[in-house]
Amino acid sequence: MINTLKATVKAARNWVKANYGAHTKTMDDPRLWVLMYHRILPTTDPRFNLEEPGMIVTPETFEMHILELKKHFDLISLSSWVAKQQANEPLPQKACAITFDDGWADNYEFALPILKKHNISATLFAVSDKIGTPFRFWPNIVSELIALKAPELNSQPLLQPAYQLSLEAFSKEKNAQCIDNLKLYSEAEIFAALNAINWQSLLQNSTHRALMNWQELKECDESGFMKVESHTCTHQRLDKGLSTEALQVEIINSRQTLESKLDKSIELFCFPNGDYNQEALNLVKQNYLAAVTTKNGINSSSNFNRHEITRIAIHDDASNSRIKFLARLAG
Ligand SMILES: [Zn+2]
Repeated sequence: MINTLKATVKAARNWVKANYGAHTKTMDDPRLWVLMYHRILPTTDPRFNLEEPGMIVTPETFEMHILELKKHFDLISLSSWVAKQQANEPLPQKACAITFDDGWADNYEFALPILKKHNISATLFAVSDKIGTPFRFWPNIVSELIALKAPELNSQPLLQPAYQLSLEAFSKEKNAQCIDNLKLYSEAEIFAALNAINWQSLLQNSTHRALMNWQELKECDESGFMKVESHTCTHQRLDKGLSTEALQVEIINSRQTLESKLDKSIELFCFPNGDYNQEALNLVKQNYLAAVTTKNGINSSSNFNRHEITRIAIHDDASNSRIKFLARLAG
């Protein structure tokens, strides 16, 4: 009863937000909505169940988003908006830029065709040193090991909560919570534990590659529908006590690698997991025209903080109906 009531209140609140939110209003100051997507996967895809719910949107939902966005916004690439803003050129009153983080192979398979069909230019932030390699993100490795009920998980203190979870019935929510708790640790600590149990051999039958290869990435970029920008070399979170040298490698070398492989200039940066310290931010300011965070919000042109651009995280559960999606854009 209480739950039904809560759901009704939430639905009503979403309806009001969807119909009267910031996206429905015109203001003097031009504004920019930046949407953050990760993976585009159909529910029938074997990769779907192994991923955190907060990472996925289905192709059907993504296409519905584009149709709704066209009703409310000028869809513009992030680099175009930033260039116009910097040059003091006229900006659309309400602009929206679509971004994808990481460079997932499924973006090439499922997002690129939809962007082409609707003639939308999005931005893709690629993890430069992991493109075209068998690299896996640790949350996916841990999720697959839980699904496999790998007893080896119990041998590493850091992975014992994952082991306990593997003994229970599968729950997407509990899985996501377990992954979230592991984010207390650095990439180095988590991979040390995973390497100690030799995760590659445990997952040797898994065929899921995470990221695109260079040919696919180049095709995305050259198409103009998914312009590639930088998301570090190895996706280390930049607030986890990295040395100055390590920060320089992640921030500067990723740009150089992408520039030489794609034969173009790279001007935008994306902070992994939205995490950074002051030193990382300063380096990004010295090396990039602009950068995106995971802080939630709508950007305004008069008060534009170009190295800490806010975004709106989009995932299927919170955006698979027109009302839920528009409520998310309401500010
Ligand atoms: Zn990322």
